[in-house]
Amino acid sequence: MRNLILFGPPGAGKGTQSAFLVGHYNLVHLSTGDIFRANIKGETELGKLAKSYMDQGQLVPDDVTIQMLESEVDKHSQAAGFIFDGFPRTTAQAGALDSFLEGRGETISSMLALEVPEKELRSRLMARAATSGRTDDADPNVIQKRIDVYNAETAPVSDHYRAAGKYKGIDGVGSIEDITLRLMAAIGD
Ligand code: ADP
Repeated sequence: MRNLILFGPPGAGKGTQSAFLVGHYNLVHLSTGDIFRANIKGETELGKLAKSYMDQGQLVPDDVTIQMLESEVDKHSQAAGFIFDGFPRTTAQAGALDSFLEGRGETISSMLALEVPEKELRSRLMARAATSGRTDDADPNVIQKRIDVYNAETAPVSDHYRAAGKYKGIDGVGSIEDITLRLMAAIGD
């Protein structure tokens, strides 16, 4: 199996790039943000809980997020591999993912980290607010909170995969197509 983590701060382009990569490599795309938003739309209990954190730019608690992710992986027993987008976002989530995969005789193949300067992120998220309908994109304070949470809690996750020799930094500035080509060069055939 090919199990990729597409990593990067809010607005780095993880969702955009995943959409292409899943088709090209025949992978299942698991975006925790998308799954939470589907639950919010469906007005589930999980959605209500997630919304209270997402609207503040905070992370949904680890136990809830990990359990949800694991049950999504289990729904795709025939998958050739996964793209994890927006997960793991804390070192606890990374540890849980590693042991969960290990229990299935699997592992993370690589972490592809889209590197984008903060100033660019802020302007991309503000622009996305116009079309995404996402309340967490519309408020500059919530955007700043998400970037701060990323720096404090999520950025350290990269050290975990760096230490395992699985980290691949990708320049996330440029055209969508150019960035896709950089990712494909890093992933290989
Ligand atoms: P972005 O990368 O633009 O922030 P996402 O759709 O990945 O967008 O995430 C939106 C929000 O969903 C996050 O700010 C957070 O509140 C919640 N979320 C997504 N993934 C996770 C996760 N792995 N752990 C905790 N919260 C998460």
